[in-house]
Amino acid sequence: MTQETLNFNAEVSRLLELVARSLYADRQIFLRELISNASDACERLKFLSLTDQKILGEDTELAVTISLDKRTRSISITDNGIGMNREDLIENLGTIARSGTAAFADALEKNSDSDTSLIGQFGVGFYSVFMVADHVEVLTRKAGEKTGWKWISEGGDGFSIEEEDSAPLRGTKISLHLREDAREFREALRVRTIVREYADHIALPIMLDTDEEPEQLNEASAIWTRPAKEIDDSQYEEFYRYVSHSFDQPLYTMHFSTEGRLAYTALLFVPTMRPLDIMDPNGRRGVRLYVRRVFITDEYEDLLPSYLRFLRGVVDSEDLPLNISRDTLQDSPLVARIQRGLVRHVVRTLQRQLQDEPSKYAEFWSNFGAVLKEGIYHDPDRRDDLINLSLFNSTYDSDSQTTLKQYIERMQENQEVIYYLSAEELEFARSSPHLESFRAKSIEVLLLTDAIDDFWVQEVGSYDGKDFRSITRGQVNLNNENSDDSEDNEEIQISEEMKKLLESINNELGDSVKDVRVSGRLTDSISCLVADDLDIDVRFAQMLSAHGSLNAEPPRILEINPEHTVVKNLINISDDMSQDHFNAVANLFLDQARIAAGESLPDPAGFASRLAQVLEKSLDSNK
Ligand code: ADP
Ligand code: MG
Repeated sequence: MTQETLNFNAEVSRLLELVARSLYADRQIFLRELISNASDACERLKFLSLTDQKILGEDTELAVTISLDKRTRSISITDNGIGMNREDLIENLGTIARSGTAAFADALEKNSDSDTSLIGQFGVGFYSVFMVADHVEVLTRKAGEKTGWKWISEGGDGFSIEEEDSAPLRGTKISLHLREDAREFREALRVRTIVREYADHIALPIMLDTDEEPEQLNEASAIWTRPAKEIDDSQYEEFYRYVSHSFDQPLYTMHFSTEGRLAYTALLFVPTMRPLDIMDPNGRRGVRLYVRRVFITDEYEDLLPSYLRFLRGVVDSEDLPLNISRDTLQDSPLVARIQRGLVRHVVRTLQRQLQDEPSKYAEFWSNFGAVLKEGIYHDPDRRDDLINLSLFNSTYDSDSQTTLKQYIERMQENQEVIYYLSAEELEFARSSPHLESFRAKSIEVLLLTDAIDDFWVQEVGSYDGKDFRSITRGQVNLNNENSDDSEDNEEIQISEEMKKLLESINNELGDSVKDVRVSGRLTDSISCLVADDLDIDVRFAQMLSAHGSLNAEPPRILEINPEHTVVKNLINISDDMSQDHFNAVANLFLDQARIAAGESLPDPAGFASRLAQVLEKSLDSNK
């Protein structure tokens, strides 16, 4: 077959351009990424060989070899793993954008301090070769297949593929012609130092081939099989970096084994830094499943619930059958039991951390709390534990977060519900007019700002026998709280004039509001918008409609503060006002309620002209 030239997918091209401009300091990670791929290729072959003995043939010693050639200024990484055929090459190296391609390019472009070295986290580590090479050649032959292939690219727009007899008999050889400014990577000393730093726990020999004797650079033993007391922090850290493709330190390290009926070892890490794609539930997998030291899969859904997707590490089972396939994993009762065991251990660890080191836990929570809270919604069995692990912003203290237990302890004597305010941003929440009378009466309100909050709060309903109550929905009459005098608990008293005013405003605003009524929650502001008792809460409706799950947000109720001077004056003069003037004021009540809630106005030009009209009147010297 003759040579075929193919174009990179447009997203891949964009990524390559960004990668080629990357910082010098990050560049050495191309070696990590290639060794990680080579080691994956060997592990996948080992997995296949469990059901297909022949596939290994004579060549049973799986290894990765790095060769350096000073003369040609090149470095190559060779493995005798699973290899790739033409379709694999096309799919994996160029024409199909993997899910992380755009995500990583976006991160690089938007965020000037985001680091090219995180490329592996996005599942596009291979492309890091273009940080150092101006010409890349991949020679490969898939296990069990006759034809070998050559893939060549210089970055830019595309690559070529052709048949090639000189490909390894099985596996892949990737040769990089180093850019002038990346010459350092053909020096044995440099390469040895880089690889030694992290390769020790790769359970496969990594060889360095120079002009002299081939040399093994690592110990090639699986770190998690060693007793915890023989492993020091720096070894854990190296392994964490290897499995997570990142460069921070683990915040928490959990290394534990179970014995007896269900035997497995787990080495799990919670990262210090938040991976960029953590909020994507389909984002990168982080925990690898092994069965008796053989790698099975790294699709975490099989092993851990999505709300623990921030975990990185390995789980090695003694009991699962070696020939288990990714599909049968899902239905395996053993896997389900391992999952329960893992979740229990992680939850316990977090409970202990929350108690023993709350400030460190707060750091964990700020990165991963929004993810963990998904479990309150999705995992009824763990609901109570997860709620107890949750930290919330509240009006009690703007510098630190609170647990629900602490909130309950601080509740006022006659307070029967847990008040919360759900908002897009903490800033909006803190300055929301809805809080005014709660502040005035020192009643604490939780401020919920994660998208998942609206879901679980609906689902859970109550905590410790106390209902969750949104302060942006339904009536609020705080005279009920804090008062032994049941006479006070009556409906808010309204004068006849006030009734008339509400009606006139309601007439003018028409369909833009569901109703206009007197507010029990305002002290300083003129007005605010709330959801009707039976309607979906304000922010939840906004969120659902933004995602297309709701055709239109239900109209809200405009609440007016009867004690506000503006409102009192309006009652006094409304009979003498022109209809036009009154209408402008009524609409401004609605406009300013929207603005205070951090919303954009449906008709900004109308707002500007109303404001001008009212200003004109108020500055009129004849008045
Ligand atoms: P990831 O390793 O996260 O999947 P990469 O960009 O590093 O992402 O690699 C892309 C894909 O290319 C791999 O998933 C694998 O299918 C294939 N690949 C890369 N290197 C090799 C190799 N040495 N042997 C076999 N397949 C490889
Ligand atoms: Mg990779």
